[in-house]
Amino acid sequence: MSRIVSRIGRRIVVADERGIAQAVEVLRRGGIIGLPTETVYGLAADATNDAAVRRVFAVKGRPTSHPLIVHVADASQLDTIAVDVSDTCRVLTAHAWPGPLTVIVPANNTVSRAVTGGRDTVAVRVPAHPAALAIIAQLGKPVAAPSANRFGQVSPTTARHVADDLGADIELVVDGGECEVGVESTIVDCTTPQPEILRPGAITAEDIAALLDPHGVTLASEPTGESRAPGMLARHYAPAARLHLVEVGAPLPHASAAVLDCSHDLALVARTLYASLRDLDRRGVHDVNVLLPPPRGLGHAIRDRLHKAASPR
Ligand code: AMP
Ligand code: MG
Repeated sequence: MSRIVSRIGRRIVVADERGIAQAVEVLRRGGIIGLPTETVYGLAADATNDAAVRRVFAVKGRPTSHPLIVHVADASQLDTIAVDVSDTCRVLTAHAWPGPLTVIVPANNTVSRAVTGGRDTVAVRVPAHPAALAIIAQLGKPVAAPSANRFGQVSPTTARHVADDLGADIELVVDGGECEVGVESTIVDCTTPQPEILRPGAITAEDIAALLDPHGVTLASEPTGESRAPGMLARHYAPAARLHLVEVGAPLPHASAAVLDCSHDLALVARTLYASLRDLDRRGVHDVNVLLPPPRGLGHAIRDRLHKAASPR
């Protein structure tokens, strides 16, 4: 272990001017990097470079039909990759960007279908992280990035997690500190008259409903799942430890000593969730009782990730 860690150790760069310039240079040459964002670390490539994008799928071990999120530096860059962006979508992005909201919009013909998994729609967001924004702006191109972990495994929230997971398979990792949000962005499909949440995140259903209400728009209530958001697998974000999910107040399902309490301080729970799951594996814990948060606000995103992490393999 120590040999690989020390090799990649030299590839972690601080997110200062020099580190950012190095990252931009790697992307410009078609390389791939670990990119800090406020949600989780991304495995980033120049979205206009098909070979680089294909390498992202290969390194992750991700099926090429599972589209990547395209990260842009500001809302105006959305119009360089999308067409027919709805007024409703603009309401959401005006409020939430930069931030943990991804919108699905119709792609224009400049967007590589390698990024969209062959679809005519594209997922876009502006991340709220100064290093990510600086890198995308200096590259001058959109950046495609899924989470920087192997397919199906726990997402990374520190540069060290990325280095541990992806070892020598990537050019460098930009260390932008611990991710502030800690769970992936909320994904909203804005291609239908009634927008629909495809993945819950820190921009909550309540937030979105309140933004849309003055415009007489409501959210679609029944998520249609896999067909709409390819890659939303039942098992995902999964540690080796077996998670036994329990509502607060119910008896503990497993007579194991380990308990992960996710029931309160939800911003902190989200921020530390993936590090906690990684920690269970590092300590060799086999079974853990997980106290679920209530199903409202950020609780939806945490419950979603925990249900997927607990899903039978
Ligand atoms: P990740 O990169 O792991 O954060 O996951 C991104 C997810 O966004 C994918 O797995 C899809 O579910 C969703 N997604 C990305 N692009 C599209 C799209 N064009 N249409 C529907 N869902 C998308
Ligand atoms: Mg992921």
